[in-house]
Amino acid sequence: QYLNQVALKDYNAVISLDTAEHTIRAQSGATFHQIIPYIKARDYFIENYPNYFGITLGACVSTAVHGSTCRLPFIACLIKEFRCYNRSTNEVELWSRGGTFNFFDWVFDKEWARMRVVLDVTLKIKPTTVRYSITSRNISVRDIDDPNALFAALSEPTGGEPAPATGNPMHDDGEEVKEAPAAPASPKAGIVDSVELRKNYSNSNRATLNVYRRAEEGRKIKADYIGNMWNLMEPLRIVWTARIVAYASWNFEWFFTPEGFKEFWHEVFIENSHGFYFFKNLVRKNPMVPGFESNPYFNTISMDISAMKTPGNRRRIIDLYNKYKPMYHVGKDYEFFVTPTMATKVSFNLPYPKTPTQEQKYNPETKYATEDQL
Ligand SMILES: Cc1cc2nc3c(=O)[nH]c(=O)nc-3n(C[C@H](O)[C@H](O)[C@H](O)COP(=O)(O)OP(=O)(O)OC[C@H]3O[C@@H](n4cnc5c(N)ncnc54)[C@H](O)[C@@H]3O)c2cc1C
Repeated sequence: QYLNQVALKDYNAVISLDTAEHTIRAQSGATFHQIIPYIKARDYFIENYPNYFGITLGACVSTAVHGSTCRLPFIACLIKEFRCYNRSTNEVELWSRGGTFNFFDWVFDKEWARMRVVLDVTLKIKPTTVRYSITSRNISVRDIDDPNALFAALSEPTGGEPAPATGNPMHDDGEEVKEAPAAPASPKAGIVDSVELRKNYSNSNRATLNVYRRAEEGRKIKADYIGNMWNLMEPLRIVWTARIVAYASWNFEWFFTPEGFKEFWHEVFIENSHGFYFFKNLVRKNPMVPGFESNPYFNTISMDISAMKTPGNRRRIIDLYNKYKPMYHVGKDYEFFVTPTMATKVSFNLPYPKTPTQEQKYNPETKYATEDQL
């Protein structure tokens, strides 16, 4: 199984920064440790980046890497195009948005990725920084009957608080106010970009609910504490301490339909009759993003779970997997609960062939690479 592996650690150069299109193009082995300082030094910001900066751009195409905002659930939402080497046809392909074989449908498909090596990726970036105010609340998991409804309510600009009165304001005497109300400082201030629910300990019924709202001034969104720890330790070369914890536990992430998630939530956290010893338990809503309608990872609720490596946990996880058959994050642990037959679960079943024909590939209409580009 190791014969077909390609090491891209040193294939990590920034190829170009397009200040007109607001994009950065870099080789697929580049990590966010390299990309973020590079664009920051040039007054750019990336709207969605993973907590752990050691993830490569290539993995953001092949796996469901998520990041700092739930409005764009995956880093892949920021990809404009990428080039990859197709192992079966021995050709380099350019995949871009639009066209019959656009990458929207195929990112995260395990079989698609197995046949390809991503070479370079063009990401959209933003010229300004976005600031957030973060509201954290400690709540009881038993009070959350339907996580979908909770996320929906919190995603309103008012974040579940009573909405301000709408319609034209009136004076006390009933006369309509003519003067325009003062413009808000920022048109996007108050927009809820991300909601996350984190239940860190298996023996506690409490969870932290974080709501990230755009703010004029406020704390800029940062990596979470696990990401922070790794990001800090990596330059100090003491990341092995965290690896010891990582080796002692499994970390996997499952993606459910909203209905499926409700059932899973009740079984694991409300009833908990099997005594699950899971920690981390980070729940995210992954909303639909225009263009990704055929991709099954969108419009899901995901749960990022860590569990100590014990035979009991292994059995419970496999039983849960077999019961719910969720999709999973291919970049995290999954082999232990997925047999080769089940692995096809993350191979999508779309109505057209996965590899464009030569004719389609070179057709300018479908935006594939020209002979010259190849
Ligand atoms: C501390 C820590 C924090 C983390 N935080 C997050 C987080 O915030 N969000 C998140 O989503 N994940 C997170 N992860 C998990 C992370 O997504 C995975 O560990 C991911 O696999 C790391 O990617 P990598 O670049 O090291 O790729 P690898 O682990 O080397 O590869 C992952 C998968 O992508 C494929 N792949 C990688 N590069 C290419 C390429 N160029 N072409 C084709 N296929 C390729 C590989 O074949 C493999 O299947 C975290 C992990 C750690 C250890």
